[in-house]
Amino acid sequence: MLLHVCCAPDATVPWPALAEEGYDVCGFFYGRNIHPEAEWRRRAEAVETLASVMGARALLGDYEPSRWLGETSAFKDEPERGRRCALCFRLQLREAAEIAARGGFECLCTTLTISPHKDPALINGVGAKECRGLGIEWISRVWRKGGGFRLSVQRSRELGLYRQNYCGCAYSFRGSGEKCQ
Ligand code: SF4
Repeated sequence: MLLHVCCAPDATVPWPALAEEGYDVCGFFYGRNIHPEAEWRRRAEAVETLASVMGARALLGDYEPSRWLGETSAFKDEPERGRRCALCFRLQLREAAEIAARGGFECLCTTLTISPHKDPALINGVGAKECRGLGIEWISRVWRKGGGFRLSVQRSRELGLYRQNYCGCAYSFRGSGEKCQ
């Protein structure tokens, strides 16, 4: 399985849970939406640290922030959780599905649904749609259920993983008084 990892703290629950279910999990950090570059580096390092704790691999997407900014520019003035975020999920999961197909993975899942600030039905719908036609099975999960988010906070603390206080892009960085993880 390829596991789309939005950030290491959010993966601390899904990754071991999927491994326990019997999946051979490889992480994929998209990261193109992250601003600034130093923040991307910190998050990428945290993903690699978690992969090594899991005894597994993690792939890092190419860091091309100007490409992401161009693709989302029509929605630059949208509030968080609006149309820009829906497009951002689509871009992330499209890339993950393409990497999965090229890499010979059988299925794809995401850590995004652990966030109490994101819509799991939307995310699972986008994931399933992006997998369709590529021969990849979408594994639908809602990780925040049953206290999943709280557990991820606790685990990332125990592992000493870097935990950000904004979702990731330049827009959320500016408004990082409001947490969206
Ligand atoms: S706030 Fe988060 S989900 Fe929304 S566009 Fe920015 S990085 Fe993507």
